[in-house]
Amino acid sequence: MSLLTKGIGAAKKVKHHFQDEIKRRTPVYISPVRRIERVKTSERICAMTFDDGPCRLPASPGGDRPLTLSLIDTLEKHGAKGTFDVVGDTSTNYPDVAGKHGSASWGGEKYDHYPDINKDSDGGAANCPELIERILSGGHEITSHTYAHILYGWKPLVYGRRKFLGDIELVLSDLEKLHSLMLSKYNYEIKLSRPPHYVDRISNHLTSYDAYACMGYQYMAASFDGAGWLPLSSYQAEVEATWKPMERALDIDPDFFCGQIIFQKDGYNMARRTPIADGLEKQLELLDRYGYRVVTVSDLLKQSPFADCANGDPAYPYAKKLLETGFCPAFRDNTIRVEKPVTRGELAMIMFGTQAANDRISIIKSGEKSHFRDISTSHPYYAAIKLAIKANCFTVDRVFRPDVPITSKEFIFFCGSMFAKSPKNIPYSLSRVDVLKILADYI
Ligand SMILES: [Zn+2]
Repeated sequence: MSLLTKGIGAAKKVKHHFQDEIKRRTPVYISPVRRIERVKTSERICAMTFDDGPCRLPASPGGDRPLTLSLIDTLEKHGAKGTFDVVGDTSTNYPDVAGKHGSASWGGEKYDHYPDINKDSDGGAANCPELIERILSGGHEITSHTYAHILYGWKPLVYGRRKFLGDIELVLSDLEKLHSLMLSKYNYEIKLSRPPHYVDRISNHLTSYDAYACMGYQYMAASFDGAGWLPLSSYQAEVEATWKPMERALDIDPDFFCGQIIFQKDGYNMARRTPIADGLEKQLELLDRYGYRVVTVSDLLKQSPFADCANGDPAYPYAKKLLETGFCPAFRDNTIRVEKPVTRGELAMIMFGTQAANDRISIIKSGEKSHFRDISTSHPYYAAIKLAIKANCFTVDRVFRPDVPITSKEFIFFCGSMFAKSPKNIPYSLSRVDVLKILADYI
């Protein structure tokens, strides 16, 4: 193992450690936007997402046709469907200069440029209609990786010198630009999005989740790194890094990839090579050998929408019905968590969270004062609680107690106001399945 490989391996470990640490410390709330990393299923199905394309430049080294087309050929050879997480156009991200080759700023010091700096016109949905048409005609999915791939907010650790949007209105207008391009030109409605470099914080307590709630999107994350973005000591080593870990994982557990989303790149890595062009064939051969179907992320979600609750689980039909009717039965990490009782704040959010998305932004922007002594206006449930109280679903004064489990008496009152009917003979302490079942029956 070379020093460079060792160094990158260590950097990767640190990165994963930080991500796990952030995950552990972040409290989880009910949310209209679910971060989808993987879903619960015992079927051998999985999805592959390809970021930063479409890319008209050829595979490197050795390619002679647009990278996106080579990837589509390989996918289709195996009957696989890809999810192309495209950008719109990065050509307005100037003035800018290339950073150090092989570093995170390889494609620009102030911004990202795809497929490369000063070659923006060879990438992006706005510049490559022929590639977008080909993706769609093959039945693959298109998701939004934003129009200009500008960071939503400041990210001091790796991207401290990068320009960022820093305001939710700017984030929304960027997302809207790609959304309306796809809708007006291709009659295609985007449903999922992934923020540039997974930077979520925008400003003022608002995050990518707030932006996606307004857009009606779900947050498309991934659970397995296809490794195509990392530069290694040689092209061969990079290609191996795309499939060897998959081979090892499947060798240990043939069901390892059930419900997983694999992260890939439709573009250059930091060393301006595209190991995915050769690695994808090997990855798909492996998945074929173990009987996997590679489907789009939307199809994966149709099969099984949640991370911890699937067909056959007691809460599943109720959570699914609530979700399909536009309510939010799931936590931000896409779990249902049947073992936890439903709290007062969660009940307000399940029923009013989708509706409250725009209110939440205007409440925070207006600087209004909280009506409650125990919740600030930036609390993820504040706007939903306000709507629930307006609908007379709770009787409260200045203290709301969002984290206290709902009592059967409070739930009967809530249903009476919300549905003009109330459940009878319900248990004194309500389980989450009880609550979801009654709500699903009443909607
Ligand atoms: Zn990206």
